[in-house]
Amino acid sequence: MNMQAMLLSKLAPIESRPLKMTSVSQPKIKKDELLVEVEACGVCRSNLHVIEGDWKKHGAPSILPIIPGHEIVGFVRKIGDSVRHIEIGDRVGIQPLYSSCLKCEYCRNGRENLCESAEITGESVNGGYAEFISVSEPFATLVPDSLKPEYAAPLFCPGITAYKAVKASEPDRNKTIGVFGVGGVGHIAIQLAKLNHARVIAISRSKSHLKLGESVGADSSVKLLDDSKQFLQNLKNEEGLLDSAIVFAPSDRAIESAIKSVKKGGVVVVCVFGKIPEFRFYEEKIVKGSVIGSREDMRELVKIAEESGLKVVSQAFPLREANKVLAELKNSKVHGRAVLLP
Ligand SMILES: [Zn+2]
Ligand SMILES: [Zn+2]
Repeated sequence: MNMQAMLLSKLAPIESRPLKMTSVSQPKIKKDELLVEVEACGVCRSNLHVIEGDWKKHGAPSILPIIPGHEIVGFVRKIGDSVRHIEIGDRVGIQPLYSSCLKCEYCRNGRENLCESAEITGESVNGGYAEFISVSEPFATLVPDSLKPEYAAPLFCPGITAYKAVKASEPDRNKTIGVFGVGGVGHIAIQLAKLNHARVIAISRSKSHLKLGESVGADSSVKLLDDSKQFLQNLKNEEGLLDSAIVFAPSDRAIESAIKSVKKGGVVVVCVFGKIPEFRFYEEKIVKGSVIGSREDMRELVKIAEESGLKVVSQAFPLREANKVLAELKNSKVHGRAVLLP
């Protein structure tokens, strides 16, 4: 059986429309796998980096041709013989962590997102810009029918990324947390930090992003400036120093400003590539990385989404418009999260 997919055969700028709608074979499932009919797949900036070749130096994609896309929700249409807990007709989601060894130290301790032999959806194996995808049972997360596809799909990358980063920032009732970068991930992080009763400051270069931050519950917002001294002064005057900062904005300057924005002993969670400036040990600040999340984090987040009314700002487009949508994302013209529907 064949299916339609937006296939990437050659890394190239998105303006040259490198994704081609192609008829390819449907994935064949192994005995522990599910065949999932994709309802929706979110469009992530990291898809753009992979397609344009920016992440070749990080080894992604590791195969070509490849079907990109790593925030997926859909219905199970076939199951392998050894599948036990998921049935045909169930609704599941797939996150960037496509699989891991389940045996190493990280996997045994619930930190499988750090596994050395992890496969990444749409980067080392085919992803969700297609009508179907296969996945092994342990890496599929059940999704309730009540969540709309364009709402549910983004939970599987920006959602989980935000969820684990907020956890890492150690939110609490008496703490002020700054969220640097208020796009697809940041607007979810703001809400999750609020659910933990922290005071939350949205921080971004873009006025419309600051507005988005306040519309989803940030207590206040501060514009990020190229002049980091001036920014710091404004933050001190308007809000005071932060207890924790979370950085989603992919820039060295944002990381530097975030580190300077926290009090001594404060926590900075970095979720992007970047440089850490000269480290002042005597301030006892803690800088830590955070990447996607574990399967347990994923289950917890889906539950929170179902129960809390978490908002996901998203826009749906047909799958065949993937090139156009990615070009708009590149030019910051997408409001919230773009989601492709096959
Ligand atoms: Zn993503
Ligand atoms: Zn492992």
